Amino acid sequence: DCSETVDLAPLVEDSLLLVEHALSKGAIAVETDLPALPQVAIDAGEMQQVVINLILNAAQAMGEAGRLSLSLAEEARDGVPGVALVVRDNGPGIAPENLPSLFDPFFTTRRGEGTGLGLSISQSIVQRAGGLITAANAPDGGAVFTVWLPVAG
Ligand code: ADP
Repeated sequence: DCSETVDLAPLVEDSLLLVEHALSKGAIAVETDLPALPQVAIDAGEMQQVVINLILNAAQAMGEAGRLSLSLAEEARDGVPGVALVVRDNGPGIAPENLPSLFDPFFTTRRGEGTGLGLSISQSIVQRAGGLITAANAPDGGAVFTVWLPVAG
């Protein structure tokens, strides 16, 4: 439904620059693996909102120090070629009982601070572009969010 096509690697780099202050005030190390991949069809501004939201959520979860990794890879889903962005942190991860509600509007564990709208809005944006956003815990701790988008065209 979106006529705009986007190169995710520079979009993720730009998003990182925009929130640098939130990462550099503590000791958060950022690792990236952002190869040039086929373009995806999504509104660039909206996708930037999604990426920034995931980065800031990770920063909030990790607190003062931690390790944030952002990587892009080509990945087919049900035979559809696509690109996956994986955002991983080494914070406390997600309590298993919260995993099913994470993308619900107003779901937050940051009472008084969070609106609980970030992931809900991110999911709407990604789904409207024909994609998928998922949350999981990494085997060695921390949260892993994956945004998958179909290749444009
Ligand atoms: P908010 O950040 O306002 O709470 P979100 O929709 O962005 O709203 O996130 C909902 C909830 O998902 C958070 O309150 C938190 O419990 C959980 N969450 C999101 N990202 C992470 C993360 N990287 N690590 C651990 N929990 C997370």
